[in-house]
Amino acid sequence: MSETATDVAAAPRQRLGEPVLELEDVSKVYPGVSPVVAMDKASFTIRRGELVAIVGPSGSGKSTLLQVMGSLDRPSSGKVKIVGDDVARMSDKALAGLRATRIGFIFQQFFLANNSTALENVADGLLYSGVRHRERLQAGATALARVGLAHRANHRPPELSGGERQRVAIARALAGNPAIVLADEPTGNLDSVTSASIFDLLKQLNSEGTTIVVITHDRDLAFRMPRRIEVLDGRIVHDVMVPDGSGPAVDGPPATPDGSVPSERVQS
Ligand code: ADP
Repeated sequence: MSETATDVAAAPRQRLGEPVLELEDVSKVYPGVSPVVAMDKASFTIRRGELVAIVGPSGSGKSTLLQVMGSLDRPSSGKVKIVGDDVARMSDKALAGLRATRIGFIFQQFFLANNSTALENVADGLLYSGVRHRERLQAGATALARVGLAHRANHRPPELSGGERQRVAIARALAGNPAIVLADEPTGNLDSVTSASIFDLLKQLNSEGTTIVVITHDRDLAFRMPRRIEVLDGRIVHDVMVPDGSGPAVDGPPATPDGSVPSERVQS
């Protein structure tokens, strides 16, 4: 490595909080005549306050990983813990509750209701979290302001640009103050300038305290993130951390199971 690695291993660990997502030897095999090993023994920990890109080419297993991380699917083997709860020990109903309250999802296709205003779309994200209508609207307005769209609250999605629609979807993911936000190719439908502004927004939200994982095939954008987990053929081939997320990183082995960062992976 050409960069100078410095002994600041303790610094990021001090800044980061407790684990919000833990994967231990997680595998996913899709059965069939020729079973597909879509994920092979993935292990990593995401801590409160992190901003992580999961990057890899098409077919490498990113969506499979997102499904398992978001408890939308169960792994074939291995352990997934979300805010300390072992997913394998939870009923489907308990898992649905966990998803509704602790995880915010952002998808490439936005999934907004065209007949509802931006504010209603965001507030409706809290429909299944037991929050009353009035409070849902208040939380929705706050989330829209966080993504810079307070002035578009009463506009419907067809009246908004693609970037604005994705901001509404991001606000919806934030409204319930989830422990972690999982974004699956959030800029896949956007031009490069708008994509960069969405990534900037995610960085800003993270600097305000939101824990975010972004799945992307865009290596340039992934390189701007403070931590990059690279997936290839169902395996994690790199797990790289750069404290300020702005420069070249030091490659290293995947994160240790407790989520700590080996010193050789960290640079100033
Ligand atoms: P990515 O999101 O990186 O494009 P995926 O996680 O969608 O990758 O897919 C990983 C591998 O698993 C691919 O080889 C894909 O064809 C396979 N796969 C994904 N979903 C299924 C499924 N439901 N049944 C069988 N194979 C699948």
